[in-house]
Amino acid sequence: MSTDPDCLFCKIVAGDVPAEVVHTDERTVAFRDVNPQAPTHVLVVPRSHHRNAAELAAEDPESLVAVVSAAGQVAVAEGLDTGYRLVFNTGAEAGQTVFHVHLHLLGGRQLEWPPG
Ligand code: 5GP
Ligand code: ZN
Repeated sequence: MSTDPDCLFCKIVAGDVPAEVVHTDERTVAFRDVNPQAPTHVLVVPRSHHRNAAELAAEDPESLVAVVSAAGQVAVAEGLDTGYRLVFNTGAEAGQTVFHVHLHLLGGRQLEWPPG
């Protein structure tokens, strides 16, 4: 499994940086975003380090499926039965700031479309 010793989310996966973890399984960890943009704002990450969703799909497709599946399980656990949004920001212009792929799960309020 690939890891990056300088990566914040690898450190959260390893338990070396604290986070409010809401779900774990063999391939994923999900934790609350430290700066939430909605009543529910959870980040779902693969345990293995990949920069973005496309690289994850190419290098570890089972973990991409596991990330999406985990997000669905967290949405149920959070009671988001009227809807939620899943987002992979990819690259700096899209707002990606942490280059360990993470799926944003946002819900609990009306979400605008298109986003800003
Ligand atoms: P991005 O902008 O890369 O799509 O998303 C990165 C997200 O990580 C941001 O929403 C930011 O609030 C969150 N984040 C950054 N540092 C930490 C941290 O140390 N802990 C947690 N839980 N979230 C973080
Ligand atoms: Zn990482």
